[in-house]
Amino acid sequence: MLQLLSLSCALVAGNMPPPNPPPAVKAEEKKIVDEKKAAEARIFAATLETDLKRLWVRSSTAEWIKATYITDDTERNAAAMNEDAMAFIGQAIKKSLTYKGIKLDPETERMLVLLKVSQSLPAPSDATKRTELANTAAKLEGLYGKGKFCADGHVPGNAEADKKHCKDLSELSAVLSKVSEKKAPSYEEQYEAWRGWHETSKEMRPLFTRLVELSNEGAKEIGPKDLGELWRSAYDMSPAEFETETDRLWNQVKPLYDQLHCYVRGKLSTKYGADKVSASGPIPAHLLGNMWAQEWSNVYPMVEPYQGQPSLDVTAGLQKLKKAKKLDEQGLVRIGEKFFTSLGFDPLPPTFWERSQFTKPQDRDVVCHASAWDVTFSNDLRIKMCIKLDEEDLITVHHELGHNYYFMQYWQKPVLFQQGANDGFHEAIGDALTLSITPKYLKDLGLIETLPKDDKGVINVQMKDALEKIAFLPFGRMIDQWRWDVFSGKVPPSKYNEHWWALRLKYQGIAPAKGARGEAFFDPGAKYHIPANVPYMRYFLARILQFQFHRAMCQAAGHQGPLHTCSVYGNKAAGSKLKAMLELGASKPWPDALEVMTGQRQMDASALVDYFAPLQTWLAEQNKGQRCGWSASAGPTEPPKTEPAKAAPTKTGK
Ligand SMILES: [Zn+2]
Repeated sequence: MLQLLSLSCALVAGNMPPPNPPPAVKAEEKKIVDEKKAAEARIFAATLETDLKRLWVRSSTAEWIKATYITDDTERNAAAMNEDAMAFIGQAIKKSLTYKGIKLDPETERMLVLLKVSQSLPAPSDATKRTELANTAAKLEGLYGKGKFCADGHVPGNAEADKKHCKDLSELSAVLSKVSEKKAPSYEEQYEAWRGWHETSKEMRPLFTRLVELSNEGAKEIGPKDLGELWRSAYDMSPAEFETETDRLWNQVKPLYDQLHCYVRGKLSTKYGADKVSASGPIPAHLLGNMWAQEWSNVYPMVEPYQGQPSLDVTAGLQKLKKAKKLDEQGLVRIGEKFFTSLGFDPLPPTFWERSQFTKPQDRDVVCHASAWDVTFSNDLRIKMCIKLDEEDLITVHHELGHNYYFMQYWQKPVLFQQGANDGFHEAIGDALTLSITPKYLKDLGLIETLPKDDKGVINVQMKDALEKIAFLPFGRMIDQWRWDVFSGKVPPSKYNEHWWALRLKYQGIAPAKGARGEAFFDPGAKYHIPANVPYMRYFLARILQFQFHRAMCQAAGHQGPLHTCSVYGNKAAGSKLKAMLELGASKPWPDALEVMTGQRQMDASALVDYFAPLQTWLAEQNKGQRCGWSASAGPTEPPKTEPAKAAPTKTGK
């Protein structure tokens, strides 16, 4: 900086220009200054690469150690490393802003763009506020982790008694997940579990309010108007355009969701009675087998289209192989690896098998939540799981290896390019492959014995998939809508809960049983990603992209016939399409990456709709004569105990 300034001064002095130099001279001078600046930016980017890589390797190593060996020491160590990296990035972003308006080479330009959006929680430069923000964020996440609901007015304090009266999230969720079992919890028991968990987030409200203020301040310092705008800036289009895009995608899938909602509601209404589940209103939030009603797989037995079809019980198949000593936990990962090598990808590096955590260690606490890593950003691939030989983990292994194979294709790029084309891409890769886990593929693996014999079997499989993937879409869409509206100030703290439920009604068609929840509650805090400040739109995008990727691979493989019958297992042409996209990492705007693989430059949910065509036709038939859609006024029919929810007017489905 200094050097550059003195240089340009010398230039002016040396030429002894007249007081008002002609425009051509001025332009010439500006050009020289800009070129100097651009050269300086290139050097800045190169130094940034070295520094960032050093800091990120340190913090990711500390994170890995922490996650596989939880102690106070490893936690403190990881926090310190992260703090160093964050402080550095904050400074680097400020410095990068001095190159604004200068014509840079494309690679430097892209690196600076990615640098700016690399933090989901930018801190204000004021040191006191920065510390306050870090503490607030840590407290919020801590509250979520420690959340416990104690029944019968029990006040925690005595370990023995606490155990008897208090339940944590997994225990409360277990109540909801048993909704289809023989000893299923009643309507009221489910409500009590749901209500209990939503008590725990009340105390987050003032902390969250402060987090919004401070992080908005941090965002403003680097340009955007608020944090939501910063998050929406990470998609190679304007924040406003991105919001419109997510609406467009949602509208592509909404008709399918409305049909699923209508059908499931009908079944629940039959089971619990029309006084509990109105046949034309929203579904009570606690009845879908999941704390957030985000995935409905647990109600499958209640809504199974055809009984007596051959079971697709993959878990039984896996357990059988285990008993015959033909499969162990690493073997499950080998099945996933084989899918990728069958597409023409390299085997996982030997270090993957040495360094990964496949099973839960006996001697220490670890984080079992599955994750995939490149710890040193140099093809140092690992997964961290506590594998069980069941269907869920077979799918999870493919999902995690999707991340690993993405890492493997781009690790030679600068660290800032070592990420997905946008954050939805990374989550979608493994999932796209799991769409190729067709019944036929499972039979070839020896995991099931009989194929579904006719269309009835297909409808059953699609219903099962839809309860997970279609049911999730409105939830995935609304979480960040709520945060965008909060960060922008459109929704003040006095309306946090009201707005949350207005969006849940609008998108999901669900509502709290027993009337409106007042502002004494903070129901958004009952979902991990809110207190943990993890942006959520990526999961919505991933659910849509995975079908778009699947369709592109099926086209490359020359698949004929309906999309849901396609498996690309063993197809090299499909693999090379995928590879071409993965190799780019984030080095190019995401529409370029998408085009390489799919020929399209827009995200597109039509592949998802195609995939579920058999189910959609079937649902439309079943729902004939029903009033699908929902309206606020037809909400849960028990009389509200407080004032009724002022929900946004909602269009009924059809
Ligand atoms: Zn993932």
